[in-house]
Amino acid sequence: MRNIAILGSTGSIGTQALDVVAAHSDKFTISVLTAHSNWELLAQQARSFLPNAVVIVDENYYEKLKDSLSDLPIKVYAGADAMAQVVTMDEIDMVLTALVGFSGLRPTINAIAAGKHIALANKETLVVAGEIVIALAAKHKVAILPVDSEHSALFQCMVGEQQNPLEKIYLTASGGPFRGFSWEQLQKVTPAQALKHPNWEMGAKITIDSASMMNKGLEVIEAKWLFGLENEQIDVIVHPQSIIHSIVQFEDGSMKAQMGLPDMKLPIQYALAYPQRIHSDFPRFNFLKYPSLTFESIDKKVFKNLDLAYQAMHLGGTAPCVLNAANEVTNLLFRQGKIAFTDIADLNEAAMQALVTTKVPVLDDLFEADAKARVWVESNMAHK
Ligand code: NDP
Ligand code: MG
Repeated sequence: MRNIAILGSTGSIGTQALDVVAAHSDKFTISVLTAHSNWELLAQQARSFLPNAVVIVDENYYEKLKDSLSDLPIKVYAGADAMAQVVTMDEIDMVLTALVGFSGLRPTINAIAAGKHIALANKETLVVAGEIVIALAAKHKVAILPVDSEHSALFQCMVGEQQNPLEKIYLTASGGPFRGFSWEQLQKVTPAQALKHPNWEMGAKITIDSASMMNKGLEVIEAKWLFGLENEQIDVIVHPQSIIHSIVQFEDGSMKAQMGLPDMKLPIQYALAYPQRIHSDFPRFNFLKYPSLTFESIDKKVFKNLDLAYQAMHLGGTAPCVLNAANEVTNLLFRQGKIAFTDIADLNEAAMQALVTTKVPVLDDLFEADAKARVWVESNMAHK
């Protein structure tokens, strides 16, 4: 039995992870569930999975959640500090980080320090603090198992290849809803259009990031830290069908790819059950339904966020943290209809130019850089 804590259990990854757990109740139990504000779904999940504890991060919903679970022996906590604390409970074997953005950093650090294995969906944590997180994981001998489909694909391709260095990797990208658009066309797109992803159903933040190519940029940095790669070894290729989830290339030129229908339950299940592969009833791929798998390059002058991510990775220091924080704000401002789609990349770039410092940051520097970048974008978007 593997005892799992799910941070962000009410989201897209969180609910799919609970489906996986429910289908394999002989292998997994749930120890902790957390949500930001959706207390009703959290209460429902708690009733089904009977965790030891639940946390609602928005304290306004504490009373409602507590009342609704008063007949059950489940501890109910509220607040971000409680979430960061509860991951250290003795009984937990693995923490699935399925919350959004910088909010994942502190609980992930605490979980690693307490010796918990991490199933990592929350890519932003590795983007902002990759060096710190990877070093801490090595120190505490915990595994960081990728849930992101591309990184799960790369991880699966590397099984059994420990002796064999990688030459390079290709992260595949669907291209999103605006594949092939010009900058002028991008200026006019609406949040509703951006929220319609062709191949994946995901939470709102990552769906916008996929449309703006920020998601692929974040994934480039995520890959660097997960697999210990040099910046030049990471490439991106557009593959609109999302069947090949990513590719590794070895020093002899041989390439391995992992493929399958786009379904996040597969990488979630792979991470939760690692190193075992366990049975699934997920639909199987049929070659004849996909007679051609195609590949294209990406125009980084139009999809500037990808270029910004490479720049941030080269600059190091607080650059990835500043870019991530700026993007969390611009992503939301666009969803709220307050800025244009192309302002996302423009403001992200301006924030980097104004704020990045290249000295090697410690954790406190990252919290400061994150907070500063958020304030900077809020005050500078007003002038647009
Ligand atoms: P969702 O928005 O669907 O869900 C986010 C979850 O985190 C919800 O449970 C939400 O609670 C909670 N949450 C949101 N903000 C906070 C916060 N500040 N503090 C604590 N909890 C919070 O996101 P996704 O499931 O789509 O994405 C989760 C992570 O996984 C992201 O980092 C994303 O990049 C990554 N990922 C997602 C994929 C996908 O297919 N969805 C694919 C690959 C990676 P509430 O419901 O109460 O708001
Ligand atoms: Mg991905």
